Amino acid sequence: MDLIARLAEIVGPTHVLTGAEAAGFGREWTCHYTWTPMAVVRPGTTAEVSALLQLAHETGTKVVPVGGNTGLNGGTFAEGALMISLSRLNRVREINPAARVVVAEAGVVLETLHDLAAQHDLAFPLTFGAKGSAMVGGFLSTNAGGSNVVRYGSARALCLGLEVVLADGRIWNGLTGLHKDNTGYDLRDLMIGAEGTLGIITAAVLKLTPAPTAYATALIGLPSLDDALTILNAVQKGSGGAVEAFEYMPDTYMERLAKAKPALACPFPPQPVNVLIETATTVPGADPVAQLEATLFEAMEQGRVTEAVVAHSTAQRRKLWEMRETAAEITFTTPDIVDCDIALPLDLLQSFLDRMTPRLMALDPQAGELVIGHLGDGNLHYTAYPSRSDAALGKAIRAAVNEEAMALNGSFSAEHGVGISKRATMAAHKDPVAVQMMAAIKAALDPKGILNPGKVLP
Ligand SMILES: Cc1cc2nc3c(=O)[nH]c(=O)nc-3n(C[C@H](O)[C@H](O)[C@H](O)COP(=O)(O)OP(=O)(O)OC[C@H]3O[C@@H](n4cnc5c(N)ncnc54)[C@H](O)[C@@H]3O)c2cc1C
Repeated sequence: MDLIARLAEIVGPTHVLTGAEAAGFGREWTCHYTWTPMAVVRPGTTAEVSALLQLAHETGTKVVPVGGNTGLNGGTFAEGALMISLSRLNRVREINPAARVVVAEAGVVLETLHDLAAQHDLAFPLTFGAKGSAMVGGFLSTNAGGSNVVRYGSARALCLGLEVVLADGRIWNGLTGLHKDNTGYDLRDLMIGAEGTLGIITAAVLKLTPAPTAYATALIGLPSLDDALTILNAVQKGSGGAVEAFEYMPDTYMERLAKAKPALACPFPPQPVNVLIETATTVPGADPVAQLEATLFEAMEQGRVTEAVVAHSTAQRRKLWEMRETAAEITFTTPDIVDCDIALPLDLLQSFLDRMTPRLMALDPQAGELVIGHLGDGNLHYTAYPSRSDAALGKAIRAAVNEEAMALNGSFSAEHGVGISKRATMAAHKDPVAVQMMAAIKAALDPKGILNPGKVLP
């Protein structure tokens, strides 16, 4: 029996897609990568995922798991491989408001979790622009971050337990809701951020938090990134650590945004540094707006903040967020861009830019530069727009960004993972012993190398 027929026996013929039906899965959101999968299968249960991996293991078939396909690093590239779409594993198995946990399958969409938590006066605080498509298995496998990391941490910090199917089809039931469990190696944290190279996540126990009763949201303009850090620390202190988001949009971003979306133009003359700041409270009757305004007023008197608008309605808050969440659309305009996702110590962001801009100009004097980021956690999305389509030039710019970030004790991947696009950088900059340990883990858990081959490891 050929492989396609055996796949159909497991999931049913309607859930095995080939040819034109599979083609829609053959590109990344950025269109940087396109491919032709051998087939796409859509299992509906963990047992079916297990049977699929047993078959793949037996036949040496390469397998690439896919969720919402919104990753930004080529992680779902699957030329000639079997793609396993988790979209039908989309049940919420349990929600327990008292324990503040939800048990969700890998195909549950992030925004669905937001809506579900809200029905119980709770929140699932992970959020980013792709929330309408990204799925539990995908955001855990990339250890996604987004806008609320400054308060709640990345996806890893929001996960208590996992169910994972290993390369040979065995099912690891690690679906615990425990907050403490020191029984040996932390397999959960190993699987999170592994980008589908060590196993397929089929379900997760996720933490919920109390839903904020009120937000204070403002767009502020400042002279410098150093002033922004001072304001972040002042608002953290004044609000008892209630900063939910601290998002960087420099004047260069505001100019591009105004051109592409005039309705979202900056409400004041864009300053060198513009920041969307949001605090939240869960205390009924508390007024975070007054508290934020008081801190901003003081900062304005000191000249650290030069412009500010504070949202006084949900619609105004939404609009400020739309300005930030349009960033991916504004950034990914041509296939030749060099998009980097770096992390830096909070007090070295300006040092990075002071070093990087002249290096870019030396490599390509006509190049453009766009930086946005999650400033509260030191994460810059640095994008260069080379003046010509030249692979060697793009490579040289990327190497320069990574070198400068590493020279300042930063990271070359803050939240998007490694996928294909950063494998060479792994070879160049990751500690060699760390790479050897990762390779040993990969060989132990996936000896035939069938799970998402060619990703993460250099
Ligand atoms: C507009 C936009 C904005 C974004 N903003 C942010 C942001 O602010 N912060 C941020 O961190 N990221 C951001 N991202 C990228 C982000 O990483 C992804 O959106 C998301 O985390 C991936 O989820 P997904 O379901 O789409 O996964 P996919 O893209 O389908 O997969 C991502 C990786 O995980 C693997 N995988 C998928 N499902 C599983 C599974 N069940 N088990 C094992 N492996 C699996 C895949 O093989 C692949 O390697 C953004 C993307 C877009 C398009």
